[in-house]
Order: sequence, then structure tokens, then C-alpha cells
Amino acid sequence: MVVRSLPGSTLAGQRILVTGAAGFIGSHLSERLLAEGAEVVGVDGFTDFYPAAIKRANLALAREHDAFALHRIDLADGDLDGLLDDVDAVVHLAAQAGVRGSFGEGFAMYVRNTVLATQRLLEAAAGRGLERFVYASSSSVYGTADRFPTAEGTDRRPVSPYGITKATTEDLASVYHQTRAVPTVGLRYFTVYGPRQRPDMAFSRFFARIAAGEKVPVYGTGRQIRDFTYVEDIVAGTVAAIEHGVPGRVYNLGGGTPVALSDAIEMIGEVVGRPVLIERRDPPMGEAARTGSDCTLAARELGWRPTFTLREGLEAQHAWLSEQAGAARSQVGLAA
Ligand code: NAD
Repeated sequence: MVVRSLPGSTLAGQRILVTGAAGFIGSHLSERLLAEGAEVVGVDGFTDFYPAAIKRANLALAREHDAFALHRIDLADGDLDGLLDDVDAVVHLAAQAGVRGSFGEGFAMYVRNTVLATQRLLEAAAGRGLERFVYASSSSVYGTADRFPTAEGTDRRPVSPYGITKATTEDLASVYHQTRAVPTVGLRYFTVYGPRQRPDMAFSRFFARIAAGEKVPVYGTGRQIRDFTYVEDIVAGTVAAIEHGVPGRVYNLGGGTPVALSDAIEMIGEVVGRPVLIERRDPPMGEAARTGSDCTLAARELGWRPTFTLREGLEAQHAWLSEQAGAARSQVGLAA
């Protein structure tokens, strides 16, 4: 994304703590906040869910700013003393993401990096007089929702342990809002994609396979429906939540035009300009058959609407991947 100063931002001069700053969404958000004239205190534990080198690269642009500072802290057991000094708002994105790994032994890591880390940060935030404590939840809390598009009041019925840790994140936030006046604002992100998307996520894997002429593994029928959301829209919604989110509320942030996975794969093939070969796999565990966001509340209270079509977002992700591949090739050329 382009980093430039945006005139008239209400965030100019604010000191904002971003956890998970080196991650996919956190790095984009940090750049945007810096562009708005905010001071960003980035926190990341650089967990080994995917390579630290990718996370360091994610932060390359943010680190060019004098107003950016990075703290390598593990929120689950690190020292949080002083971290929130003079901070106006917190955006808590650090967590153990991903649905499939949350079953089995992997769950312990989810409890540690999502539940425990969030409780410790909320505890540190209590009594600080923060303007907002915005945190990432997920469409995964809905699981098998009985209504589409799904609004925030719909019962949460997670179908994965990951979804449970996000529902618990919301519940912890609610407790600290009610008992310790932490101004928590939750955001249920719906499948986010775009440049720097995590390597474990579907589109990242699809792009890589198609570019290499390999088969794309599709779990189940491919007719599972997802409300894909472009990262720049997610960042805009998160910024709007820092400015206008009503403490105690949870908002959906979704792209608003759900599509079947197999149709998205076909579109990726068109964007890359190569045929797509599908390899069927067993249906996945823990994935909802369908997600679809009703973002009426975010439109009304945050003034937010998604603006990117899936095609535009996929083209941007492809352009970024091509740039990365070009840079990697020239590195090899220089080394040879
Ligand atoms: P990501 O894995 O790229 O970023 C998360 C970052 O948090 C990582 O850099 C990791 O090192 C850090 N982290 C994890 N545990 C930590 C700990 N104990 N202490 C300090 N740092 C820690 O993930 P992302 O895709 O950018 O997701 C960001 C947030 O949005 C997460 O909370 C995720 O659950 C949520 N979310 C993401 C999506 C999506 O589609 N990407 C959808 C819904 C919700």
C-alpha cells in the first residue's frame, strides 16, 4: 500500500500500540497509521507459525518511519510493564491464526497466543484511560450460522477450536469492558487476502501452485462459500474502529460479496493467466460451509463499507507476488 500523509486525520499525533505488527494485517495497519501521522508502537513475538524472515520483510516500509518503534515481546509471558505508557489506543491483532492447526496438540499454542496473551494485555490496559482497545475477532465465531448474511446478534456456534479461542477473546474483552472500563471494540474479520497474506492461507497456496503449474488441492466440494475481504478494506475498517467504535461493541468487517471457493480459484487462474488443475481432498475439519457478513452496523456506526472487488484484490495480490518473485530472481542473479 502507498505510504503517504493523509491530511486532517484524527489519529495524527496519537500514540497507538499495534500487537502482531509484523504479521499480515498488522504490518499493513502500521503503515496506514504512520501515514495518518500517528506514532506506532509495534509489538510482535515473531512466533514460528511461519518464517520470521517473512515478518521482517512485512515491516520493511514501517521501519523506515521515525515514528515507528518495534518491541519483540511475547504477550503470553513477556514483561508488559511500561509498554502502554502514554498510549492513546491499542489495536490487538496478535494471535495464533488458522483453523486447521487448532485441533489436536496444536490447541495449546492457540490458548497461549490468543487467550492468555489477550487476557494479559487487557489486564495491562485496565486503568490506563485508553481511547480505544480494538481487537481482532473472526467470522469463525459464527461457525454454522443459521442466517446469511450474518449479523452480529446471531448466535455464535464455532466449529473449530480456533473459533472457540476467538469467541473467548470476545468474552474476555466484554469482561474487561464491564468490570475495568477498558474501551474494547471487537472486529470480526471475514477471510482477509491481499499482498503479504499469510503463507498458510488458501489464496497464497493457490497462487503458488498455479504459478508452478501444480495441482491446486481443494478440500471437499469447493462449493464452500467465503466472504473474502481485501486487506486495505480491513485496514480502513480497523482505523474507523479506532476513531468511532462504540466501546463494548463487536462489528463485522467483511467484503460483502461471498463467492464459492471454486469460483475464486477460477478467477485466480484468469488473473495468473494459467490453467487451473484441481486435486480433490477430503472435506476439512473445522471449516464452516458458508460465511457471509452483514456489515450494516459497521456502515452505520463506523461509516465503513468495503470498496474492493474480489477481482481487484486478486490482481493486487498477484502483482505483489510477481514483484516478490522478480526481486528473488534478481537476488539470485546478483549472487551468481
Ligand atoms: P499473522 O499470523 O500474520 O499475524 C499475527 C502476528 O501475531 C504474528 O506476526 C505473530 O508473530 C504475532 N503473535 C502471535 N502470538 C503472539 C504472542 N504471544 N505475542 C506477541 N506476538 C504474537 O495473522 P493475520 O492474518 O495478520 O491475523 C491478524 C489477526 O486477525 C489475528 O488475530 C487473526 O486471528 C485475525 N483474523 C485474521 C483473519 C485473516 O483472514 N487473516 C481472519 C479473521 C481474523
